Amino acid sequence: MRVSVQEAISALSSPLKEEMEKIVSSPDFDATIGPEDFASLSTVTGLSDADLRVAMLPVAAAYSVAPISKFYVGAIARGASGRLYFGANMEFEGVQLSQSVHAEQSAISHAWLKGETSLTDITINYSPCGHCRQFMNELNDADKLEVQLPQREAMLLHKYLPEPFGPSDLGIEEPLLAPLNHGMIAHEDDALIQAAMGATNRSHAPYSKNISGVAIRDKQGNIFSGMYAENAAFNPSLPPLQVAMIAMNLADVSLSEIQDVVLVEKANAVISHLQDTQAVLEALNPDIPLAYLAV
Ligand SMILES: [Zn+2]
Repeated sequence: MRVSVQEAISALSSPLKEEMEKIVSSPDFDATIGPEDFASLSTVTGLSDADLRVAMLPVAAAYSVAPISKFYVGAIARGASGRLYFGANMEFEGVQLSQSVHAEQSAISHAWLKGETSLTDITINYSPCGHCRQFMNELNDADKLEVQLPQREAMLLHKYLPEPFGPSDLGIEEPLLAPLNHGMIAHEDDALIQAAMGATNRSHAPYSKNISGVAIRDKQGNIFSGMYAENAAFNPSLPPLQVAMIAMNLADVSLSEIQDVVLVEKANAVISHLQDTQAVLEALNPDIPLAYLAV
């Protein structure tokens, strides 16, 4: 467990501190809180559902990687299954700021990576920026999504984003997090390529049609994959490399552990992730090999 997470837990009030220590020190802890653990935390602490989520935000924010802003944002997204998914912002020195990941994107991608198909609520330690309000409007059931901030009443996303523009304005019926399988097959018998292809098959790219996925292998041989998450407003789209880095970060593995990477995307699509993927990896470590598969 990274020091920032240990420190965030140490700073919690009792008995939440002791209960969170138990949960987080379990070898199975994966930056999520299951519904049974959440109910038990609520009983032991006497905190309401919303107050408990807000009280846990510093632990989510402790996953932040923000060398530029040093502004640590945490988000906790709850899936329809009742499980809570931590997320935190990520910044990358040496590339455009547009490559940054916001905490809401991190928590939402985390839930998506682990199989959630819709979210009921998201709790954030700062008011969501315009970019994230738009990103969240891409979600399945966006009109029902509750946003909870500290010391605020929960409000629906569309209270934060009145008169929203979204997928339906472009005739798109498959929202973000809807289960997808684009049915592409990798013929290479390579675990990293297979993982990137699996992510490609789940990617949400209804506008450019450039379905795409990335898989990262770390120095221990663990594989983290990420699906491309496109957005109706284009700019808030989240590239597949970023989603794979979110998976790695929330698995408590430093980006300095990246061994090699595969990018899969559609051949001859109207856009490409290749140059941005190369640029971000180059900024992290120029020696990371990137394999590229256009299918
Ligand atoms: Zn944001």
